[in-house]
Amino acid sequence: MIEHARREPRLECCGLLAGRGYQITHAYPAENVAANPATSYEVSTKEIVNLTRQIRENGLELLGIYHSHPNENEEPSETDISAVGYPDLAYFIISHISDEHPQVRAFSIRDGQTSELNLHAP
Ligand SMILES: [Zn+2]
Repeated sequence: MIEHARREPRLECCGLLAGRGYQITHAYPAENVAANPATSYEVSTKEIVNLTRQIRENGLELLGIYHSHPNENEEPSETDISAVGYPDLAYFIISHISDEHPQVRAFSIRDGQTSELNLHAP
């Protein structure tokens, strides 16, 4: 996830996260098809369908969506909040990408409300 963000430090990179229960074990990078990928992200429906199928075939569940913020903002933007399509997923935001230790924070976004989730290393 962090490697993906570092490959394109000026664009928002995005992808899906999968695992079992509350434990995320796999990241599936996706293409950002947003009109302005420097300030927003969008995964095509086709890619979501393809990746969701791969996740199921690997015996995993879709648990989260990640994207990076090249502008260093650690929290979900207004667009992120209004564009949420999967309120049951955890929304991960990677920021401070070029730092030695990038910030990774996760949020639950539901009905326009965000709340930060606690992350634990396995
Ligand atoms: Zn965002």
